[in-house]
Amino acid sequence: MKLHNQILLALVLGAIFGAIFHVDKNALTISYVDASSAKIAEEIQQWQTVEFVDGKTDETLGTFGTDDQLKILSAFSKLSGEGKKNLIIRATFAAASPREFKNVKNVDKVKSIALVIKPIGTIFIRLLMMVAIPLVFASLVVGVASLGDLRKVGRIGARTIALYLGTTAMAITIGLTLVNAMQPGTRLDIESRERLTVEFQGQVQEKIQTEVAVDVIDMFVRMVATNPIQAMSNGDMLAIIFFALMVGISLTMIPREKSSPVIAFFDGISDMMIKMVELIMKIAPYGVFALIAATVGEFGFGILQTLAWYAAAVVIGLTLHTFGTLALLIRFVSKLNPMTVYKKLRPVMLIAFSSSSSAATLPVNMEVCEKELGVSKEVASFVLPLGATINMDGTSMYQAIAAVFIAQVYGVPLDLSGQLTILLTALLASIGTAPVPGVGLIMLIIVLRSVGIPEEGIALILGIDRILDMCRTVTNVTGDATVATIIQRGENSFNSRKELQAA
Ligand code: ASP
Repeated sequence: MKLHNQILLALVLGAIFGAIFHVDKNALTISYVDASSAKIAEEIQQWQTVEFVDGKTDETLGTFGTDDQLKILSAFSKLSGEGKKNLIIRATFAAASPREFKNVKNVDKVKSIALVIKPIGTIFIRLLMMVAIPLVFASLVVGVASLGDLRKVGRIGARTIALYLGTTAMAITIGLTLVNAMQPGTRLDIESRERLTVEFQGQVQEKIQTEVAVDVIDMFVRMVATNPIQAMSNGDMLAIIFFALMVGISLTMIPREKSSPVIAFFDGISDMMIKMVELIMKIAPYGVFALIAATVGEFGFGILQTLAWYAAAVVIGLTLHTFGTLALLIRFVSKLNPMTVYKKLRPVMLIAFSSSSSAATLPVNMEVCEKELGVSKEVASFVLPLGATINMDGTSMYQAIAAVFIAQVYGVPLDLSGQLTILLTALLASIGTAPVPGVGLIMLIIVLRSVGIPEEGIALILGIDRILDMCRTVTNVTGDATVATIIQRGENSFNSRKELQAA
């Protein structure tokens, strides 16, 4: 069976496995220290009530019912260190005698087998991340050094950035149009709104407290690393790209006998890293299975129902952009056959979906663009890492839809200028979003602030964020690959195979 089919199968099986072995919503593990100082992790199930009591004052801090697992977790995480120390948890059961826990260290969901296998997926993601930086650096140095033309580098750079901004703006426009037409916010009933707000309140506070800001000038300043090795160890992609460009350009300016061995060295590293990606991809089906099983096992699909309209707006928007806008660009600007391009991009999309990380998908995207789509090393190694960092069509569209959705729920009026502000801030916020899971939601706070929508509103969409993150990451990486093919076409040097050419 071909690799992409194996991955697809793993994805489906993983989802089924996760749905079967999902986290029990009526079970909790309470870890506490008993009188003999032994650490004990005890499972409680099917409680009738759970009560949090302050051990010092005997004051009740909260009483929770059968279905309040998330509320219990959120209430526990909100307690201060002192609060946790004094906490007494009392649980009552229909069929068993009540239990009381003191010295509680932690309260957590009971991990099902679907969550236990998650490390396999994490290892897979880490392997991909491991390759990314040496691969980007070595390929970019070789690419620029072999271009040997500063003007060409400048031209590719300017075009790439213009295309990234343009495609992202298109994505946001589609998102805004859809969310205004579908009005998902007015379709959410008050009861669901209250329930979501309470359930996710704890996590929201955490996210709101994260310092978020996008400072474009500062981004340019920080692109110049004072210590390139440190930039590499921090995975600071923009600084790595800039340093690689400088190295590549300087190599073209010294005598050939000196530059050749250096270029050959990096060329060897870059080929070696591509080989490593191929090796890592051999375990992709297992990694994907574990990742999807854990995600479905933990988050389930239940919440999809409550937020069906909102999720539909996001998914329809992403689909329109990924297979509409981008397909048109591939057909008429890159002059390639979109169907064939999408077929080749299948493993890239599947890895993006299961990892929710453009950064982890980057090595696979580079390999596929170079080997399957005929994009040259210099273009792929510049356009794709830059894209993984700043180009997020899916994330920006999602941020725009989410912002308007929350505004609709809270009845915040948004006129045309408000919507334009959303367009601009979503564009900036997506540039500032790190290419790893879940960051798009945090950067959404910037968009909400820009038009005065209550930040607490993210509680409404938190529960469904992970699955939408998976979807938007697919759009993000497809956008990067599309721009790579456009740039390649502009360089008039497409060496792609015949099957790819548009009719
Ligand atoms: N997970 C996304 C990515 O890596 C970023 C986000 O939207 O959270 O592209």
